[in-house]
Amino acid sequence: MPECGRNFSIIFSGKPKGKILKTDLRYLKGIGPARSRQLSRLGIETICDLLLYVPKGYHDRRIITPISSLVPGEEVNISGTIVSSGYLRSKNGKNRFEAIVRDKTGDLKLTFFHFRYIADRLIPHSRVIASGRIDYFGCISIVHPDLIFIDEENSNVRLVLPIYSLTAGITQGIMRKLIETVIDEYVSEMAEVLPSDVLGSMGFKSRGEIIRKVHFPDDPGEGELARRALALEELFVHQALLNYIRTEVSKRTGIKMIPPDGSLAEFVRCLPYSLTGAQHSALETIAADLGRNVPMRRLLQGDVGSGKTVVAAAACSLCCRSGYQAVIVVPTEVLAFQHYRTISGMLEPVGVRCGLLTGSTKVSERRNLLESLLDGSLDVIIGTHAIFEERVVIPGMGLCIIDEQHKFGVEQREKLLSERDPSPHFMLMSATPIPRTLAMTIYGDLDITVLDEMPPGRGITTTRVMTRDTRNMVYEFLLERMSSGERAYIIYPLRETSEELDLKDAATSFEILKRGPLGKFGVGVLTGAMKPEDKLDVTGKFVSGEISVLVSTTVVEVGLDVPEATVMVVTHAERFGLSQLHQLRGRIGRGGRDSWCFLMKGEDCGAEGASRLDILASTDDGFRIAEQDLKLRGPGEVAGKRQHGVPAFRIASLIDDSDLLEKAADVAAGSSSWESLRDEYELRFGGLDILEL
Ligand code: ADP
Ligand code: MG
Repeated sequence: MPECGRNFSIIFSGKPKGKILKTDLRYLKGIGPARSRQLSRLGIETICDLLLYVPKGYHDRRIITPISSLVPGEEVNISGTIVSSGYLRSKNGKNRFEAIVRDKTGDLKLTFFHFRYIADRLIPHSRVIASGRIDYFGCISIVHPDLIFIDEENSNVRLVLPIYSLTAGITQGIMRKLIETVIDEYVSEMAEVLPSDVLGSMGFKSRGEIIRKVHFPDDPGEGELARRALALEELFVHQALLNYIRTEVSKRTGIKMIPPDGSLAEFVRCLPYSLTGAQHSALETIAADLGRNVPMRRLLQGDVGSGKTVVAAAACSLCCRSGYQAVIVVPTEVLAFQHYRTISGMLEPVGVRCGLLTGSTKVSERRNLLESLLDGSLDVIIGTHAIFEERVVIPGMGLCIIDEQHKFGVEQREKLLSERDPSPHFMLMSATPIPRTLAMTIYGDLDITVLDEMPPGRGITTTRVMTRDTRNMVYEFLLERMSSGERAYIIYPLRETSEELDLKDAATSFEILKRGPLGKFGVGVLTGAMKPEDKLDVTGKFVSGEISVLVSTTVVEVGLDVPEATVMVVTHAERFGLSQLHQLRGRIGRGGRDSWCFLMKGEDCGAEGASRLDILASTDDGFRIAEQDLKLRGPGEVAGKRQHGVPAFRIASLIDDSDLLEKAADVAAGSSSWESLRDEYELRFGGLDILEL
């Protein structure tokens, strides 16, 4: 069997200290291409990755189970004396070796199919601790147990073993050996990260010691303490980056915007409604930011329907009335179009001119847009990230607003903004209600403003969890609402038919519904795979009321604003994340009428799925829902995937270690030496674009 290399050594040498840790494991003697492919499935590519691959738990061989209370399937340790042993030949001719071990409570069989080294030692009267999974083959037994011979001189036998998450082809034994070997060879290459007083307060002398202890502690408690130290270290490095960016940004020159007196009042006067208190105070804060010569870096967070768009429009009006241009970037074409309509409707009356630029803008139109941006006759450009990707030149860019999704990592964003001097103001708008701890982590370099008040005059939204048998009721209800002129969304988890899951997809259901009684109210379908112009066409019809029922997937999740929509039906609701469902529900209840959200349980929805849905039915507080979501699914999924700016922490858990976050922030605040952490950041989090500028 190809064991992992015993005598690891690096093939090439002469690398400076620390750099070796970045070495791809393929280049280590003893790790072939196959093994390195297996490891990379676990996200382990380099020596550093391996050193930081912390166990998910520990196996404590000092906890002994009496033989009489063993249950098949359990991982246990037993301790006893060998009473008999010998070779046996099975029917298929294979040899095996069996030993019976006895404690005060009973006997247990140990079976070995490879036994060259073990047979001589497993003789009557030898005392052992045997560890492994209990099986039942005629009698209670363990196949290939890990053994410790108690009477022999083996003080260096490990009683507490790490348990790692594994992948096919790698066993605990292989992983342990691999890690032990890299620790011995390379742990000394690791630079210290946490200040020594912080290390000391956690009971450690060096980083090397922490790494050793996390893998091979004397007891599980010690291992957990080491893991916490590494989690703190990780959060600290990340916080240090955010602090660094904050400092760099504050050193940059911003644009001090001085709009003509009364600009904001004029904008507000033209609105068909008055601002909520929360919108007002957010705008005051933003206006103050824009008036300083330090670039604004602000997150405007507000639950779905809290009215962020008007705040963005107002900010643009201030910017443009001061003589600068603004850009608003949104995640989808549909949303870009909607924003263009809404925002230009608010801005044109105050003399601010808007343009729309997306991937499907026609060539001639695009040329015109670009020209009018250049000559300054266009003030606000609204679009998808095509704006960034195509390097559209916006000579007077003073404000950049990103709505609804965090597509940019911190580094990426700052790179875009720092290409300009003075550096534009920046605002991120997020409907994803992120718990405070997570916000601190992702947006630690931003100031946060929350819109915590809903615009008045909204109807009540009722949420019901429904089973399949009540489908007809829901259908009747839909008919009733549609005939009184309201609109509905019907959401499917999949775009295309999946036979395996037997889920009806949006397209099939659209065909069925439009032929049924709902057909006369107009049924449309919107999926992610449709051509942009078809998407715009169908959303346009839904907005105008030409169709009343929109069958869709989660593409409607972000931002659609159709106040006449009062019914949201989500099929197979258990397949969605809680925050996702909350966003979907946010598409209704935007007008004065009451609204209904039906979460249809699939037949295979288990008890756990059902109780998740009940959370949604019991509250409409996005923050509480997000908190639950975080607990149930983990942070990466709450805020989107890694490319959406959630740092991929490998050790810290934002749930279990959330108390460490504040400590990490404190430690980072007291340490000014980002330079020394730069390498560490790169090792842990990958590239570091911003700092390379
Ligand atoms: P979100 O925060 O989800 O982006 P929108 O900006 O789309 O919310 O606003 C939701 C709806 O509320 C829109 O129809 C908008 O016109 C309306 N709205 C926003 N602010 C107010 C307000 N102060 N009073 C009444 N309606 C408002
Ligand atoms: Mg919005």
